[in-house]
Amino acid sequence: MTVLEVDITKRLGSFSLDVSFSIERPDEIMALLGPSGCGKSMTLKCIAGIERPDAGRIVLGGRTLFDSSAHINLPPQQRHVGYLFQSYALFPTMTVEQNVRAGAAGSTREERAERAAREIAAMRLGGLEHHKPAQLSGGQQQRCAMARILASNPKLILLDEPFSALDGYLRWQLELELTDVLRGFPGGAVYVSHNRDEVYRMCDTVCVLDCGRSDAKVSVHELFASPATLAAALISGCKNVSRAHVAGPGLLACEDWGVALRTSLPVPEGVTHVGIRAHYFEAHAAGDVAAGALGGNAIPCTVERVIDSTFSTIVMARTPGGALLRYECEKGAWAALGNPAQLVLVAPPQTVMPLVSASNDKMNDTIAMDNEEIGGASHAR
Ligand code: ADP
Ligand code: MG
Repeated sequence: MTVLEVDITKRLGSFSLDVSFSIERPDEIMALLGPSGCGKSMTLKCIAGIERPDAGRIVLGGRTLFDSSAHINLPPQQRHVGYLFQSYALFPTMTVEQNVRAGAAGSTREERAERAAREIAAMRLGGLEHHKPAQLSGGQQQRCAMARILASNPKLILLDEPFSALDGYLRWQLELELTDVLRGFPGGAVYVSHNRDEVYRMCDTVCVLDCGRSDAKVSVHELFASPATLAAALISGCKNVSRAHVAGPGLLACEDWGVALRTSLPVPEGVTHVGIRAHYFEAHAAGDVAAGALGGNAIPCTVERVIDSTFSTIVMARTPGGALLRYECEKGAWAALGNPAQLVLVAPPQTVMPLVSASNDKMNDTIAMDNEEIGGASHAR
């Protein structure tokens, strides 16, 4: 049976949420991935029953939590949904034991105490039962919040950017711990994040949210190998996008780059953009090769800027169409090219990703602005 089905709409002033996805398997960890302000937290609140959608349906394990046409709207306590807030939302004046017991399932006081004790042990909080949240480390606080959630016997766990307040080593520790907890949990999980790497490591499937609208759910592997939409390409870290249209079978006219490129990926209806990841080009110094010798998909460029980054070299290259391309390679590989002023970037056909965008001027503006910012400094030179 499907674990969770969500199909809801909600208006909030000028913002409108229109989200639909389902979790198919009880061991599935699904990411809701999107930039800040795209409606991730609002979606979780609707599932938990903290916010009410205007219309639609939410069904968890065959139980209808919300159905606007049937006038069903279960209160949060009856939904059996665990919600891990970013700040953990522990009761500050209560001890670990009291916090966990406050959420515990059970019909008698003894049953609830026993249930709490079990989760405290499972979350390795033994010995800290009488500590207050402020006396715990960040990791222990998160484990305490998870113990409270698990003690309530949820059918689904929602996690809202649980690491966004942390960085570095502690964050990494917590990620490893939380991954183990989620993998051991027998229900589904929805993991909200704007961090593609975290999603890639922790989740099985991903639904990209773009200005309140959900893309079709895909596997995390698919998101990175062949994102279907402009929003998915950008949030998965694709640094190069151009407006594009189909110019022939498997051929995309890339308007901002001023070239036509072959793709070996399926070309869907209504292609509006094309994307190429910065690492996927093969680069040649223009003097080293005859233009025709490279076959198709060669883009002659002028090097605008070379940026020495932590572990790689980033090259910003001006295309015939005027827009910049970002090429990224190992430092040694760039040094071996001899710092050329003219560069030929070759994009193998399997790296040329056709993309569809809902007519979204805001996104195009953002891309144009990014290009300006990156190119701006060297323009002035
Ligand atoms: P995310 O979690 O993806 O960063 P949110 O779900 O918090 O985004 O918010 C989505 C959008 O809804 C934002 O544009 C935000 O300004 C708007 N929003 C959130 N809460 C309210 C509210 N109570 N009233 C009006 N607008 C809201
Ligand atoms: Mg949020």
